[in-house]
Amino acid sequence: MSNTVVVGTQWGDEGKGKVVDLLTARADVVVRFQGGNNAGHTLVVEGKQFICHIIPSGILYEDTKCLIGNGLVVDPEVLLEEMASLDTAGISVTPARLSLSEKAHIIMPYHRAVDLARETRKGRGKIGTTGRGIGPCYEDKAARTGVRAVDFTEPDTLEEKIRSNLEEKNFYLTRFFNAEPLDAGPMVARYLEMAERIKPFVTDVSLELALAVKEGRNILFEGAQGTHLDVDHGTYPFVTSSNPVAGAACAGAGIGPGQLHHVLGIVKAYTTRVGAGPFVTELLDKTGDYIQERGMEFGATTGRRRRCGWLDLVVVRDSARLNGLDSLAITKLDVLTGLETLKICVAYDLDGERTLSRPASLKRLDRCTPVYRELPGWSGDISSARKMADLPAEARAYLEAVEEETGVPVSIVSVGPGREETVLVRDPFQP
Ligand code: GDP
Repeated sequence: MSNTVVVGTQWGDEGKGKVVDLLTARADVVVRFQGGNNAGHTLVVEGKQFICHIIPSGILYEDTKCLIGNGLVVDPEVLLEEMASLDTAGISVTPARLSLSEKAHIIMPYHRAVDLARETRKGRGKIGTTGRGIGPCYEDKAARTGVRAVDFTEPDTLEEKIRSNLEEKNFYLTRFFNAEPLDAGPMVARYLEMAERIKPFVTDVSLELALAVKEGRNILFEGAQGTHLDVDHGTYPFVTSSNPVAGAACAGAGIGPGQLHHVLGIVKAYTTRVGAGPFVTELLDKTGDYIQERGMEFGATTGRRRRCGWLDLVVVRDSARLNGLDSLAITKLDVLTGLETLKICVAYDLDGERTLSRPASLKRLDRCTPVYRELPGWSGDISSARKMADLPAEARAYLEAVEEETGVPVSIVSVGPGREETVLVRDPFQP
């Protein structure tokens, strides 16, 4: 048994979906521990493609148990929709295959309404929220007024909470935002109806994990977003409202740190960002367009075009420390094929001084310029590589430079979107 945590080391969209899918084949249990339905992974079932936002892709494997931990905020409408679309694809989502933590927080229509009202007031895209009510739901969790999955098993508690919360939310929506108030009656009715359908999936996920540990199962902890979107450690305030760092797997799933055996950091071979926020290695030229087009860098959830730039190893080095990374999975290396010279950012220049880690102040980060190390590119197709030796010497040198600058060994290299388009140097589940 060896439990693995998978985390993004950049700003999300590192290609975690593919690596998680690869590792899921070796896992008995897959757990999500933070975030909400702002994550998005593309699943392909019998040629039909759809995107899941909340249910782990492990659901495609009949013998894999999928767990939604207490650290998530869950929109029951989205959960039920995903269950229905999986059902249409012939995958029946039963309580034997999926559990929802009784302590997970529930996204309510007033969370979405607050999210939208705020974005409208500020001008769309200010901090790049997806408007799904995720941030306001985490706010209520901290304010101790949240609705939890366990409330789905107690209709009177659920109704009471909705009615009392709505009083305050309607005041806020109408008086502060000049928005429409929400009606309690239909909301209570809809949530009671959804509660009935979701109730059978509500369990104590921490107890399920304890049992899995006792039975020696392989557990995969699937992080969403990325380290630099972490509410504590990211480029605040351009961050998500949860902690995508590996340590959050403990609090967000209900397991002790001693049970996390390997932390795998996903590193895209270049850098991308969605929405606003500082981006030191951003490329606003033809090379940026080349990477954007070859990498098909559009958001899975939002469809927004992603900003692209050279691989920023200051960012990845920070992630190595913040997560305690044991190994790296480098994804989308094939996208860089055809570029004559490649650059990796190994430090920042800040007001004439070298810095090896990202400053917390956005103003200082804005003044940072990249210190690049140049490496020769390669031109031949690399997607058929299955072992390190199959890669051109220049591609191997690129990977070695990443190892050298971060101090973390590479265990997986992804050279194409397909599951088989992978170089597996070391299986993270093998201690
Ligand atoms: P995620 O949410 O972290 O999985 O990241 P994205 O939403 O950006 O999804 C990654 C996209 O890149 C998917 O369409 C994958 O099929 C694709 N992808 C993953 N790994 C590779 C790779 O090594 N090469 C190429 N060309 N595409 C990849």
